[in-house]
Amino acid sequence: MPTDNPLKPNRALFFDRLNDLIDHRESKQLGIGLLLVDIQNFRNLNGTFGYEKGDQVLRDVFERLTDSFSKNGSVFYLSNDQFAVILPNLINPNLINLAARKAISTLESNYKIGESNLYITLNVGADYLADQCTAEGLLCNSERSLSIAKNSRKHYIERDFIKNPYHETVIDFSDELNKALDQNSIELYYQPKIDLVSETPTHAEALARWTSPTAGPVPPSVFIPIIEKIGRTDDLAKCVINTAIRQLNEWPNLWGDISVAVNISPTLVETPELLTYVNSALNIWDVEPSRLTLEVTEESIINNIEKCFENLSNIKSQGVKISIDDFGTGYSSMSYFKNIPADELKVDQSFVRHMLDNEADQNITAAVTDLAHKFGLSVVAEGVETKALLQALISIGCDYAQGYHFAKPLPQNQFIKWLNNYSSSDYF
Ligand code: C2E
Ligand code: MG
Ligand code: MG
Repeated sequence: MPTDNPLKPNRALFFDRLNDLIDHRESKQLGIGLLLVDIQNFRNLNGTFGYEKGDQVLRDVFERLTDSFSKNGSVFYLSNDQFAVILPNLINPNLINLAARKAISTLESNYKIGESNLYITLNVGADYLADQCTAEGLLCNSERSLSIAKNSRKHYIERDFIKNPYHETVIDFSDELNKALDQNSIELYYQPKIDLVSETPTHAEALARWTSPTAGPVPPSVFIPIIEKIGRTDDLAKCVINTAIRQLNEWPNLWGDISVAVNISPTLVETPELLTYVNSALNIWDVEPSRLTLEVTEESIINNIEKCFENLSNIKSQGVKISIDDFGTGYSSMSYFKNIPADELKVDQSFVRHMLDNEADQNITAAVTDLAHKFGLSVVAEGVETKALLQALISIGCDYAQGYHFAKPLPQNQFIKWLNNYSSSDYF
């Protein structure tokens, strides 16, 4: 532990340790990562519970951070409500994103203050530097990343080091991903989508998962853009469509046939090859077209509405369903609804998540639901994490819900187990 008393801010010790690590690195290929962890509204906490209780929370936070990073990092208390985690010897810059998420999941929870429970939320900033590493540079970039997260009301904004011009040494995943596609080692996880009238899981969304041999699990928000950049979007789509349709045949038929939805990259939405991939997979596995849904984002259509609508209409006329994903984030105009070749809208998580404490978000979700129904589309709410939110969605007439309240995306075998054990009374 770098200091005995976590409540004594120690910037000097932090800088000493960081400079020492920079000076004594085994190789300049190994980068150093820095996380800045900041407790939201800590002043209010002190104001409400008093300084003694506030200090107790700081000690708890320090302890939890130290427990979870003791093997590969050092934790420091920097100032009022701010902690730093130094992560030496990172072989890949994107590991810093995983570390940031780890900090959030270990720290964001209930803290006991006397008789009360207090829920703490965080903002995290992060940076990674390799050969041109200086302690000031690392801290300054992490502070910038923290203030961007705070200003956008997000806990953490994922860093994309591959595109970042400030970093000269980048280890990218292109080779590994090329291999993964050649060897078919991109996996699909499935997340159920629940019909809010029958209270049964009638659909599931397939979400791609990839484990890098050198860096471990990498989220789709990082690896899918790289697949697109290396020109293998079509290969990913073929692999995802085929795997999903093949695995669908293994699911139990407890509430009728369950359908599967796959996500389609924006560049494919306007290409006629998409129909070819879909038809060939449906034929090979002998699955009814109506059991397949293609999820396309609103943004991917907007750039070339005419061409995309024509392509999607062709696919829809085969019986395949079309869903507009992340709806509400693409600023489309209302006239877009008139001819939209879709069956369903998925209201983006950013509206759903804050519905209970933000009237505007609730009104938007309700208005989108009404409008979609008027145009014959069904409505799915994404990111449903609590029963209270589920009930609010039912009351505004939403048709389907998907989210951690029911299940996280699960590997095929666990998803089958989940289906077999499903009972609506556990969730409704
Ligand atoms: P999406 O299609 O909007 O998928 C929903 C994302 O929200 C998934 O993240 C899912 O794990 C997450 N999620 C679901 N329920 C909850 C919840 O209750 N709370 C929270 N906080 N999150 C929830 P994931 O799996 O990381 O995927 C991210 C995005 O990556 C997807 O967004 C999709 O756009 C893209 N993606 C995933 N798989 C594929 C794929 O096979 N092909 C393509 N082109 N894109 C994919
Ligand atoms: Mg989706
Ligand atoms: Mg979505």
